[in-house]
Parts: sequence; C-alpha cells; structure tokens
Amino acid sequence: MKKISRCLILSILVAVILTTALSACASPSSVEGTFFAMDTVMTIRYTGEEKLLSECGKIISDLEKKLSVTDKGSLIYALNEKKEPIRDEEVVALVKKSLELSTLTSGMFDPTVYPLVKLWGFTTGEYKVPTEEEIEALLPYIGKDKVSATTDVVTASEGAQIDLGGIAKGYLSDVLRERLIINGVKSALLNLGGNVTAIGDKDGSGWKIGIKNPLGEGYFGIVNVSDEAVVTSGLYERHFVSDGKKYGHIIDPTTGSPVENDLLSVTVVGKSGTECDAFSTALFVMGREKATVFLKEHRIDAVLYTNDGVLYTEGLQGRFSLQPNFSSLPCEVIRW
Ligand code: AMP
Ligand code: MG
Repeated sequence: MKKISRCLILSILVAVILTTALSACASPSSVEGTFFAMDTVMTIRYTGEEKLLSECGKIISDLEKKLSVTDKGSLIYALNEKKEPIRDEEVVALVKKSLELSTLTSGMFDPTVYPLVKLWGFTTGEYKVPTEEEIEALLPYIGKDKVSATTDVVTASEGAQIDLGGIAKGYLSDVLRERLIINGVKSALLNLGGNVTAIGDKDGSGWKIGIKNPLGEGYFGIVNVSDEAVVTSGLYERHFVSDGKKYGHIIDPTTGSPVENDLLSVTVVGKSGTECDAFSTALFVMGREKATVFLKEHRIDAVLYTNDGVLYTEGLQGRFSLQPNFSSLPCEVIRW
C-alpha cells in the first residue's frame, strides 16, 4: 500500500465521479471525488462548481509532496535525512503549530517521534519488535526541544527527525474546507481517512458521522455535527501482531513503544481539524484518566472507547448516540 502510494504520489486522482450530469447551466452540482494520498483514501463530497474538485486534488498532492516522510523530494525528507532547513511558509507554520500542541499536551503529541516510528517498522511496513537497547538509543533524539521553528525556518538537531502524520490530515481538512467555503460551497463532507470535516448542517438536520468500532466491523456510535471536524485515533488503524500481541502506530514518546493502555479509540469533535487531529493522537497516548482530566480542563468534546465502555463529554449530550447493536455498552458522560 505504502509503495503504491509512493508511486502514485497522492497527486493522482484515482476516481472522479460527478454525481450530477454535467450540464451547461451554472447551478451548483453535487460533486464527489476520491483521492489516494497520505497512505489513505480521501473522499470529498460537496455541492458547488465541479472545477473545485481538481483544485482540491492539487492542494492534496502539493501538501503531500511537502510533508511525506518517504518521498525523497519532500521538505520533511530533506530535513530528516539531509538536515536541510525548511523555509516553506506553510510547513514552518504547521511545525510551529505542532510544537505548540506538543507543549499543550505535555509532549503526548510529539512530532519528533519519527525515529521510533521507523524503528518499529511503521514507515516501511517491515514491522519488528525492537530490543530495549534499540529503543533507549533513540529516546535522546525525541522531544520538541530537538526542533526549532522560528518565524521563517525549521531546523532539527543531530539525530532528530519530524513526522507530521499525527496532524497532517487534520490540517489538510482545514485547508480544503477553507478553499471550498471561499468558493461559495455551503454544504460538504470531507473524509480524509477517518478525519471527517463537515461544512454546513445538511439541510438543517446536521451531518451524522459514524465512529468506527475499534474491535471489528461497523460503527459503534454516531455523532451529529454542523461545520465541525470529527477525528479518530485508534488501535484498529495501522498495527501489527507479534507473539499474539497487538502493536499500533501511535507511539508513547515517554516509553518509545506503541501505546498500551485502557483506550481503544479516541474521537475528538471541534472547529479546527488541525487541533482535533493532534488532540486525538495525544489523548490516545494519555489513557482514560489523564485524557478525561485534559478534556475537562480544555473543554474539548470527545468520545473515548475504553476497555470497559464508552465515555463522552457533556458538550456532546444530545449529539452522540450508540448504535442499536452497541446499546449494551456501558456509556457515561464526562461532566465539565
Ligand atoms: P493519528 O492517526 O492522527 O493518531 O496519527 C498517527 C500517526 O502520527 C502515526 O502513524 C505516526 O506517523 C505519528 N505519531 C505516532 N505517535 C505519535 C505521537 N505520540 N505524537 C505525534 N505523532 C505521532
Ligand atoms: Mg492525529
């Protein structure tokens, strides 16, 4: 999959389906397109001018070309492998935002985890459980203080490497959303591999977004949103099994190993896709107890699927519901 993505490099429009016949009249059409980028399938649906779809495709491929950790031509690759400073305004701003969110989450969201992501094989798909020594040898290179982002340049200290995979799709969803809105789109649903963003309120009733069952098929819950992002991080995403144990792609920067706690998935709901994305990753690392404290402290709306049930924040009351076949799951509200 990864290799295919490298070859095709996100820029390739896999399929474009115009759900309404192209007519000569200027009235907006219902447009849908699917792209393969950032190692995932991305679907964009909106009501508006069809030419916006190719603009979205270009935004997607341009951003992937800048941020990919594997594409030898990317800015992140050049920083990671050749210590070339990054001066691209957009990437500098995104790295700065990542470092701020790292501070806010006490380092649980950490864009410098890349050496560990690589060590465990999540970049290549050649998974392995490393030795303690191998992990410990990399820990000195992890931490936001290993990267500097001033107003116009990003640099990394010796051995440090950046991976914006925990925030890139959320950021991309914000950029696409903005582009659609300034071009008059009032109704859209963007699904960037589990990072969902809604524009408008779907005829006044709100968009109903399913939250994936982390233990199998289907959706365990539905959240109703208008003009918001719904971002999930979970164990069901990229992972491997070794000696019967499951290892997921989200790394606890304090231990250097994939997260192992009482959470199976975290879904964050909010206005900023960028922040929701970083928070979902960070909350997943924190575990139920710390995540609950963090959500209350910052009044962030989220749904936590834990070992023993589902928790959702007060702000989602009346907007979150369990699917009928999951109604026996214990469900509790996190009060502010
Ligand atoms: P997400 O699916 O948004 O939770 O992001 C997971 C991706 O972010 C992984 O595939 C890694 O590329 C990267 N990552 C892993 N652990 C962390 C972490 N603790 N902080 C930030 N990014 C991470
Ligand atoms: Mg994330």
